[in-house]
Amino acid sequence: MPILPTPPLLPPAIPGFYGLTRERLGERLAGQGVPAYRASQLFTWIYRKHQRDPEVMTNLPLAFRQEVPRLVDLSLPAVASHLCTPDGDTHKLVLTLGDGRRVECVSMRAERGLTFCLSSQVGCALRCSFCATGLMGLQRNLRAEEIVTQVLVMGDLHRWEDDSFNLVFMGMGEPLANYDAVMDAVRILHDPLGLNLGARRITISTCGLVPQIERLAGEGLALGLALSLHATTDELRDTLVPVNRRWPLRELLPAAQAYGLRTGRRVTLEYTLIADVNDSPEDADRLAAIARDLPSKINLIPYNPVPGLPYRRPTPEALQAFVERLYPRAPAVTLRQTQGGEIWAACGQLAGLGEGS
Ligand code: SAH
Repeated sequence: MPILPTPPLLPPAIPGFYGLTRERLGERLAGQGVPAYRASQLFTWIYRKHQRDPEVMTNLPLAFRQEVPRLVDLSLPAVASHLCTPDGDTHKLVLTLGDGRRVECVSMRAERGLTFCLSSQVGCALRCSFCATGLMGLQRNLRAEEIVTQVLVMGDLHRWEDDSFNLVFMGMGEPLANYDAVMDAVRILHDPLGLNLGARRITISTCGLVPQIERLAGEGLALGLALSLHATTDELRDTLVPVNRRWPLRELLPAAQAYGLRTGRRVTLEYTLIADVNDSPEDADRLAAIARDLPSKINLIPYNPVPGLPYRRPTPEALQAFVERLYPRAPAVTLRQTQGGEIWAACGQLAGLGEGS
């Protein structure tokens, strides 16, 4: 499977504030002769009080306030488009990055609160056969600040009414293929003086990069892990999720098990139901058997259609039959209520679809 090289990305002249962990910001400030504790003060204003204009940071010396814009870039990406479902619960934002490329993020309101769905790359190299983002190929990795600012733009949109939102790396891209930037962003979001989000509120979704799953297990952060399983045999998974040819189920499932045991968290098995492809009773039985062997829960996702791809969503009756077959046999099953399909904001539909319509 060809994995395209990522084009080199020159670092910006002034480093983006939102990509710096507090520690690294402190080092940068110290290098400029500013005491490192100013990093904590800036973090508090910006991430705890949501004030990004140095003018209002009145506990900082005036001379430092004036210096801030020369030390770090505090700008946010421009919102190129903003679509919202008629019920107001799902918003899809398209952001313009510094190099003009565009990236999409989605906010969803459901019973358990707000969830922000983040992108980790522009496009994706892994080419899962049913996913719109895969059709784009990989354009480039996002930098940590380009991940954190997605959260800030969506938080602003909701006026920070909810301090306890959830983050899922289920937008464009494969987060574990952009490991370092994703982890820097996670550390900034998780920092008590950053957005102070508990690790339990952050979920990384992967199509199954085994070495990175192992690395993630050793980070000492009990982040949620979601595994895009979608098939219960290597034969089918090789075609739906081609990275399976590199790390087949016999390697992937033990890595997921080890992750669950090491972090004390159940791994979410994501299973997109595609009509006549992976929705038979035998599929349900094999899925249940896999789930029983792991500390896991199953999240069923009815397929969201992608123009140009031959796949269909099962009928409501077929979905129901699959759930009923699975339910008594598997430890925990949820059927994801699809949100945002009407604005091309649902899973697997993030690829510049519906823009400008
Ligand atoms: N690269 C990560 C995040 C991708 S998107 C991963 O593979 O996990 C989040 C989920 O949506 C993944 O499980 C993905 O396989 C699934 N998905 C992709 N296209 C879809 C579609 N058209 N309908 C429903 N789910 C889809």
